[in-house]
Amino acid sequence: MNAAYNSYIGILPDSNFATIQSDRISCPLGQLVIASFAKERVKGLDAVVYNGMRTSKKVILNRINDEVKAKKKVAVGITLTAGNTEDGFEIAEKAHKYGADVFIGGTETTMCGEDILEGREYIKAAIFGAGENRMAGILSGNRADCLAGTAWLSYDKEIQSSPIYKFGLDFENIKVDYNLLYDLKGHGGVSVLYGNDCQHVKKRCYFCGRQSFGTGFRDPDVFWNEVLGLYELGIATFNHTMDNIAVDMEKLGELAKTKPIQLRLDKHKTFINATDVNEESATYLKKINAIAAIGLENFALMEKVGKGKTKVLDHLRALQQLRDKRIPISLSMVLGIPGETKDTLEENTEWIDFIFKEYGEAIDQFLISPLIITTGSRAYHDLMALPKIRRKYKEKQIPLDTFEMSEDYFDNFCQVSRKETLEHILSINERIKKFNPRVTVSGHILNTEVQIKGIKR
Ligand code: SF4
Repeated sequence: MNAAYNSYIGILPDSNFATIQSDRISCPLGQLVIASFAKERVKGLDAVVYNGMRTSKKVILNRINDEVKAKKKVAVGITLTAGNTEDGFEIAEKAHKYGADVFIGGTETTMCGEDILEGREYIKAAIFGAGENRMAGILSGNRADCLAGTAWLSYDKEIQSSPIYKFGLDFENIKVDYNLLYDLKGHGGVSVLYGNDCQHVKKRCYFCGRQSFGTGFRDPDVFWNEVLGLYELGIATFNHTMDNIAVDMEKLGELAKTKPIQLRLDKHKTFINATDVNEESATYLKKINAIAAIGLENFALMEKVGKGKTKVLDHLRALQQLRDKRIPISLSMVLGIPGETKDTLEENTEWIDFIFKEYGEAIDQFLISPLIITTGSRAYHDLMALPKIRRKYKEKQIPLDTFEMSEDYFDNFCQVSRKETLEHILSINERIKKFNPRVTVSGHILNTEVQIKGIKR
């Protein structure tokens, strides 16, 4: 039986929230997993994956058009996340006009559910949760597979809505063929996956809208093989995008012990909770050449961040241990926790000053951002629980505007506006440079000044 499609084009559209590191170390890992998975299972499938943060829309759209003109049956898969939906829908609409079938997935799709298709007839299906099995089913034409609880096709009358079910990642069977990434060598670094979610998976931090794709680890030899292949192509920066590998010390140890000796100049940005930093984990992190990414958290409103039992002292101890082992540190902090005032912003500035005075030379990056409302986070639910806000957004097409929701959030939950908070972040940027001029400071979202200008009130 012939497959339903013989060309797959996976796209992660450009995002308004891209950090200044994004084009250096990110790549559309989810799309690469989908494309690699499908290529192994669908006979004769051509597949390519685009990173919208590196490749222009024009180049991507030309490729789609060329594939359709070459009389191929083309499926376009688009990952929608908070911040990239505008670009994503634009690509989707044009791809449909050219004659490709468009499928959407990603966090925004899963969080919004079937309603995301309303008024968007140019999208053939929305896929909820992990997409590799579903997309392979669609591409091969095996509808039984693609209907297994996740795909919902909007205008194909043969397939009706099916219950939404979120599949977890199939860690054992994931292989990533990075050669499917367009302009691979042009990427300064790439995202990789060894395993696991953070330990707050059952009760996320207040602002976190991350979805859980399940927990588990990949075979470290398979993982290192992928890394080695990339390293030989000249890529040495790796972003462990999905995981907190230190949750499981045994697995972190396995990773450190199996690291190939050829890898010397590689860098692995790896999230770690402050409570997981200890002598053992620091030794392993050192061995894998980690940049330890730590959520510093809002000092003045620490309890309200909701990060379990993590305390200020845990952060100080973690920073000291990492500094002593000469492990570079990447810190992140969110301002605008409920109850934020001018005074708490000042308190946080003092806290940042203190951290940079003590540990500044060990800190490589500092990502600081105002709280952003992403669908599904606890902050989102609190905002939507307000009757006037619920009424306001009820009539709007989804996904809802993240910046608009964030402004409403600040107006209702903080005693400082989002604009004041962004201005405060700019002043913090200036101060930090004095302690460590080499530190990369990011407003977490592309350009803090541009955002301030965009604010209406
Ligand atoms: S913000 Fe980070 S630590 Fe907190 S729940 Fe989300 S992924 Fe976990």
